[in-house]
Amino acid sequence: MRPCPFCGKTDDLSRNLFSGDFVCDACGASVDEGSWNNRPVEDALREALEFVANAYDMEASVGDNSLAFYEAYSVARAALNRANTGDQQ
Ligand SMILES: [Zn+2]
Repeated sequence: MRPCPFCGKTDDLSRNLFSGDFVCDACGASVDEGSWNNRPVEDALREALEFVANAYDMEASVGDNSLAFYEAYSVARAALNRANTGDQQ
């Protein structure tokens, strides 16, 4: 299961016995099962960041190590790590 789409918590999840919706016990969000893991914007962001980070990984081995490029890579890689793990820090 992905983290709560509203607060990002991952370990306080239950089901509504009547509707079957997923309910976040941390923030109270209630989302139907089909929508809980459907995140088109987040998925597009992740795909774009993967592209940038992978491009840097390849360029770094070629020798283009400008500071601005590296900083962009660092931001992209940190955002990807947070998105992939649900870590809010
Ligand atoms: Zn929540």
